[in-house]
Amino acid sequence: MPMEMLFVSEWVKPVMNKIDSFIRNDLKSLKNYEVQPITGMKMDANESPFPLGNQFRQRMAQWIMESEDFRYYPDTECNILREKIAELYGLDKAQILCGVGSDQLIDYLTKTFLEPGDLILAPEPSFSMYRIAAMINHGRAEAIALDPKDFSYPVDDITTLCKKKNPKLLFICTPNNPTGSIIPKEDVIKILESVNCIVVLDAAYGEFTDDTYVELLEEYAHLVLLKTFSKSYGLAGLRVGYAMAQTEIIEALKKVQAPYNLNTFSQLAASMVLEGREYKNNIIWIKEEKDRIYSVLKDLEGKKGLYTFESHANFLFLKSGVPDLGARLLEQGVLVREYDGDMSMYIRVSVGTQEANLAFIKAMEGIFHD
Ligand SMILES: *Cc1c(COP(=O)(O)O)cnc(C)c1O
Repeated sequence: MPMEMLFVSEWVKPVMNKIDSFIRNDLKSLKNYEVQPITGMKMDANESPFPLGNQFRQRMAQWIMESEDFRYYPDTECNILREKIAELYGLDKAQILCGVGSDQLIDYLTKTFLEPGDLILAPEPSFSMYRIAAMINHGRAEAIALDPKDFSYPVDDITTLCKKKNPKLLFICTPNNPTGSIIPKEDVIKILESVNCIVVLDAAYGEFTDDTYVELLEEYAHLVLLKTFSKSYGLAGLRVGYAMAQTEIIEALKKVQAPYNLNTFSQLAASMVLEGREYKNNIIWIKEEKDRIYSVLKDLEGKKGLYTFESHANFLFLKSGVPDLGARLLEQGVLVREYDGDMSMYIRVSVGTQEANLAFIKAMEGIFHD
């Protein structure tokens, strides 16, 4: 062994033995975001059951063959995509920021607004990334318990809690993941009128309801809307999300934006999907399928403790007295979202393909017979 190698390794050894002590203390308790391995029919992640249409694929293929754009960095400003989104909502392009999924924008929001130790409030149960992003960015998170009866938003509790706790950011998810419950627009206005913080309304499933909330942006400078192409638009694999707000907030978020964050391919694909409007028919089908599954589950209601909550999104949330329900569904080839701890008796099932929905119904009827 050469001399200098020996020297280096001797010097490095004590350092290598304490990597753990270099890691931020507050991250040690943070678990990696784990995704269930894909086995069986996918009804676990609220993705679209529709593959992208042929016309779309042909246009993308043609673009790949003819374009030389991949050797250049992407457009950091996502100009074409932002124009399309602005047009869709009648907003100014300057009111939109695109991200690598809305996950990245949740991260940007906590990066931009939280001083170390600052608080966010987020509903519980809801999307876990609000809490995780706050924690990673040196903030703290506290929960707003949704009403356990129907998971509705306790509006008075929210306003009281905001006054008492003084959060920097309040997250509201509507329709809420995983419960499917919504908060009525009057209540969003009530909250906006009474709180003294940034209100982030995550409308990842907004296309499955009629409310858009976009018109509130004009009046409320402390409102941020989050949207994604991952659910109703069927582009989860390409990771495109966006935030809408007044320009002051968008400009602030740009301070923490990673340069070239959204790749060229994803920008173009999202623009094309918006233009195509195929997703609109898909949404109608998904809602009909959801209603159909819901009514079957309502027929099984009460058997072995089964209860299905009303949902305004592309998934259903249900509770049962069968502790290994997820595993038993998987035995029948159906993959659903399971939870642990307090939530271990609940599952969330996404509307899947026709085949998946039938398999799910059949499996449920088998498990919850008289
Ligand atoms: C899926 C989901 C998102 C994240 O979507 P991406 O754009 O894929 O990062 C955000 N919020 C909620 C509530 C979701 O369910």
